[in-house]
Amino acid sequence: MNATVFAVENIPLIKQGDDIALVLSEQTELREHDIVVISSTIVSKSEGRIVPMDSVKATQQAKIIAKRNDNDPRFVQAVLDESAEILLESPFLLVRTKHGSICVNAGIDHSNVEGSDNILLLPEDPDASALKIKDSIFKYTGKKVSVVITDTNGRAFRIGQTGAAIGIAGIKATRDWRGTRDLFGRVLEVKNEAIVDEIAGFANILMGEGNGGMPIVIIRGFNLYHDSYGIKELFRPEKEDVIRRALKAQSI
Ligand code: GDP
Ligand code: MN
Ligand code: MN
Repeated sequence: MNATVFAVENIPLIKQGDDIALVLSEQTELREHDIVVISSTIVSKSEGRIVPMDSVKATQQAKIIAKRNDNDPRFVQAVLDESAEILLESPFLLVRTKHGSICVNAGIDHSNVEGSDNILLLPEDPDASALKIKDSIFKYTGKKVSVVITDTNGRAFRIGQTGAAIGIAGIKATRDWRGTRDLFGRVLEVKNEAIVDEIAGFANILMGEGNGGMPIVIIRGFNLYHDSYGIKELFRPEKEDVIRRALKAQSI
């Protein structure tokens, strides 16, 4: 088995209204069933998800949390506005976004955003963003590709951040091994591999976190194309999530 992975060179600074599929198709020749991994930062920028902190009005709740967490009340307010549920308020805000993913600060970023007072929200519906980019790539190139939109996330239990998938199209979130056999004929009962997170993690090594300017990575020669979209099967239902329940019980 042999796959190629490369970051696409010469992607400009992305602005609101930019067509990422077009920029990408002009910079590199895509092939059928390429896996196109895109940092959420540029998807958000293209969708105009930059918010000047000055435009955010902090509520009393935001002010209280901000004081406790030593944060800017306007930033806290922006996080609350993007959240459907708060799992942990302090020492940092761990929330479920309206799209359903659980992350610190609703994935709101300061880094790699123009303007010192600007913050960048995640795409409103990252699955819809991935599908739109996938369809546009097909329109421009005639190629069917998988699209994985990523963000850098921290993890529970482990130090350090890794890439994680937040929106997908043209690929299934998991590769299910259950019911297949191991080397010794035993039937696998549990393994359901979260392949889109694995892809995001590897692509993130090429993207980096700083000023590299490499927001798009292509994985070639490894066909995981599937005519579906949506990452929600990765979101553990609350009633099966003992850790989430424990967190909530503790914060009451
Ligand atoms: P996130 O993980 O999606 O939050 O994005 P990061 O801020 O970690 O950036 C990932 C990569 O994209 C890094 O190599 C950045 O330098 C690069 N990047 C971010 N914004 C832009 C942009 O507008 N244009 C280009 N060319 N690269 C960008
Ligand atoms: Mn980010
Ligand atoms: Mn990152």
